[in-house]
Amino acid sequence: MTEQYSIAFDHVEKAYQKTRVIEDLNLFIPEGERLILLGPSGCGKSTTLRMIAGLESITGGELRMNGRRVNEVPSGKRDVSMVFQNYALYPHMTVRDNITYALRVHRMDRAEMEKRYQKALEILNLEPYAQRKPRELSGGQRQRVALARALVKQSRFLLLDEPLSNLDAQLRGQARKELVRIHELYHQTFVYVTHDQVEAMTVGQRIALMDGGRLQMIDTPYHVYNRPANLFTARFIGSPATNIMDADWNRGGLELLGQRVELPECWNRLVCASGETELCLGIRPEHICLKAGPQENAVCGVLQYVEDYGNKLGAYVAVGDQEIVCICQSVPCAPGETVSFTLDWERMHLFSRATTCSLGYPEELPVWKELPAV
Ligand code: ADP
Ligand code: MG
Repeated sequence: MTEQYSIAFDHVEKAYQKTRVIEDLNLFIPEGERLILLGPSGCGKSTTLRMIAGLESITGGELRMNGRRVNEVPSGKRDVSMVFQNYALYPHMTVRDNITYALRVHRMDRAEMEKRYQKALEILNLEPYAQRKPRELSGGQRQRVALARALVKQSRFLLLDEPLSNLDAQLRGQARKELVRIHELYHQTFVYVTHDQVEAMTVGQRIALMDGGRLQMIDTPYHVYNRPANLFTARFIGSPATNIMDADWNRGGLELLGQRVELPECWNRLVCASGETELCLGIRPEHICLKAGPQENAVCGVLQYVEDYGNKLGAYVAVGDQEIVCICQSVPCAPGETVSFTLDWERMHLFSRATTCSLGYPEELPVWKELPAV
């Protein structure tokens, strides 16, 4: 694979005094990829992005851009532009001056500057606002100015730190699509930080999920949803979160929440090969189909209450001392009555309780669609 315009973290570590906030980060971002850094607040996303930008020193390991070590290379020599969470526009300058500022500082040829400026104005629909000051703009317009300012530099690396977090839900939806479109026009290597999993799933070609300064999983949105590598990923991706139950394997089945379900041969073989018996079972709320009353080889519980989301229902079922959430179109009976659900073998996940890692999936399951390589 070509290393041009790539970013490689090689055992990178970042510590403030004695506190390590990034631990042993290994990550390769190829040229032109749209990579999302996702994770809860404080997990180290901004720190990772700022290390790429050269705004944060690296205390261990090596960061390479274009295949070359950049640990000591100053920000201005890395060919990056960054969009900050708070936009950081100059309040006394017009939109035009904000966007062209960096180009003027670098004494860019006037005609070239004008060409880039006009194109950015056009693709971000900012033409009517060119002479306004930031305070005369809405949040969405300011965000587009910040993006335009990053785009006109035409850097090979575009870094965005929660760029949509100040927008309301409707604008965020539009802006997500705009960002993807812009990336398809400019094809920079694009690293995008968010704590919002919907944004991650819709904007990312791959998602790097972090927790506590450690990379938890890196894969396509499709795989982080359907093939979570560990319990953290299973819980973090999807809303409502994946139901996780302690499950002990013995002689061909799972003991879970005081009940027993037999597993099909393919899953039993996988569990045997892993040597693990103390497991967690994960099932997404949208993959549970409730039936009224008990059924054979099913998990049985009592329907507690139902939430109406308009386009679907959330059903809460008490099983033993745990509450299981199901998302469905209708419920089979009234609250207080017995319901049950069978495990969908193609849609269940097993994890080791000791390591929290996924046991993997039986080969017999349908071939999962692969997204085109980036
Ligand atoms: P995120 O962007 O994922 O919310 P950050 O990368 O900003 O997280 O922060 C990661 C961790 O590093 C947090 O625990 C934060 O408190 C800590 N941190 C960030 N900057 C500093 C600093 N200058 N000194 C000490 N700790 C810091
Ligand atoms: Mg941050």
